[in-house]
Amino acid sequence: MPLQIRYYGDKILRTRALPVEEITEEIRSLVQEMIEFMDAFHGIGLAAPQVGKLIRLFVLRNYVEVPGQEIKLSAPQVYINPRLSNPSPKKVFDSEGCLSIPGIRAEVERPIKITVEAVDLEGKAFVEEVEGYNARVRMHENDHLNGVLFIDRLDLRRRKKIEPMLKQVEKKYHPD
Ligand code: ZN
Repeated sequence: MPLQIRYYGDKILRTRALPVEEITEEIRSLVQEMIEFMDAFHGIGLAAPQVGKLIRLFVLRNYVEVPGQEIKLSAPQVYINPRLSNPSPKKVFDSEGCLSIPGIRAEVERPIKITVEAVDLEGKAFVEEVEGYNARVRMHENDHLNGVLFIDRLDLRRRKKIEPMLKQVEKKYHPD
């Protein structure tokens, strides 16, 4: 069965995902499908709970800036059982959206830098220190694994502003 995106209002988006115990053939094909799915929807990140799988895994593409050229996207990267640490005290606001909350974008404040530890699809552990929008994408996707959405991180004023739109999204995708 092809993957289906879970939309705001779906309880699975509010549930803590469980660690991946073993990188099986099933996990490999899920990752492949998730990457195709992310690209088809023009996303730059996708977490497993967004397609109804409650496991600690996300995929993303990095923004790559080459001076004098357009911003490009990197090859897809896979994060299994990720752990974020060492957030920079310095925080910045930037615009975020989410495939599970279509049509809504808002300015979210997040640390500018973060350290990520994870395992790749070959089962190899890696550590990276990332900053800027690429750090933001990791924090956004990692939040999904804990049942947290970017709208939860808005200040009261911004949250109030999008509340009517959120209600519309919920009604559209979950009419009962
Ligand atoms: Zn999202």
